Amino acid sequence: MRPIPYGRQAIDTADIREVVKILKSDWLTQGPKIKEFEDALCKYTGAKYAVAVSSGTAALHIACLSAGIGHRDEVIISPITFAASANSVLYCGGKPVFSDIQEDTVNINPLEIRKKISGKTRALMPVHFAGHPCDMEEIGGIARKYNLAVIEDACHALGAEYKGSKIGACKYSDMTVFSFHPVKSITTGEGGAVLTNSKSFYEKLLGLRAHGITKDFNKFKKKGAGFWHYEMQELGFNYRITDFQCALGLSQLKKLDSFIKRRREIRDIYNEALKMVSGLVLPVEKEYVHSSWHIYCLRLKNSAMQKKVYEGLRNSGILAQVHYIPVYRHPYYSNLPDYKGVKCPLAEKYYSLAVTLPLFPGLTVPEIKYVISKVKELSV
Ligand SMILES: *Cc1c(COP(=O)(O)O)cnc(C)c1O
Repeated sequence: MRPIPYGRQAIDTADIREVVKILKSDWLTQGPKIKEFEDALCKYTGAKYAVAVSSGTAALHIACLSAGIGHRDEVIISPITFAASANSVLYCGGKPVFSDIQEDTVNINPLEIRKKISGKTRALMPVHFAGHPCDMEEIGGIARKYNLAVIEDACHALGAEYKGSKIGACKYSDMTVFSFHPVKSITTGEGGAVLTNSKSFYEKLLGLRAHGITKDFNKFKKKGAGFWHYEMQELGFNYRITDFQCALGLSQLKKLDSFIKRRREIRDIYNEALKMVSGLVLPVEKEYVHSSWHIYCLRLKNSAMQKKVYEGLRNSGILAQVHYIPVYRHPYYSNLPDYKGVKCPLAEKYYSLAVTLPLFPGLTVPEIKYVISKVKELSV
């Protein structure tokens, strides 16, 4: 049997055909597929504007900049996330402030957020862990009360829904960020996007994606210049995505709902098989959400058992993971004065028990059965 990863892309011949078409066309980058992909993301999620970029991390970076995060501005975030969420705040000179999780969903706890708000707080960054949406109504309410921006890190949650609206609709936030890395809901290789309903954020994001350069003569500072004129008006980046990536994204997006459906079926098979195993805590889904089931995270009885199951699965060719090391534990963070002694007790507890099982649309039935039998064997 091939080693079984925890996540993997699903690429079919239609995807390949669409990419090849673009490779044979005039535009490898900055052509028509980018806007087409952005429009399709808007149509799917219900957002007004989308800006596709080179990665989820790039998307988080320009979302933070657009929200005005600057020197020492504080952004409240869960420690149970990929380092890139917090790093995007550091890129802007800001300070990620880690706030503890809810034990059941593993998402940031709105009650804890309130305790972390200071005069320097500028934004909240809820991360929809494993594809399970955060309590966005509460988080949006806190943001309104304290006049904070909300940036959703929805890198796990393309295809998820919260109280009847798609994640990405930005119903309770200013911007929502997706990633199209191969382990995520859909892929463009590398890639990401920021969605928003605000025209001013949209224009800011477009500028930051491409060097801060504008070619729109209506926006020029210098009037009456030659036709060749263009202006760099702020310090932006080259965070562009290519046309062939967007062609892949468009083709993948058509299959998104079937991918999520298959993820949910596999979740059901795991739940059914593992619910009777004593000492296991299975991942939950609240009745008011529709999770995209990016990952399936088990909790073991204790940390000795976590180690045993993780190692046993790895030794059996099942590439289990632990999502995630609390971000403040990484040496880069723990060596910064701001994070000396920082600890979120429920995040710590979660991290000492969690193991992620393989979950992706192409996982076969024999593979699922093999994973289940190994988990049962190892967790006694
Ligand atoms: C994948 C991921 C990112 C980064 O996305 P890239 O496209 O790999 O840059 C950020 N945050 C979370 C929660 C992620 O899972």
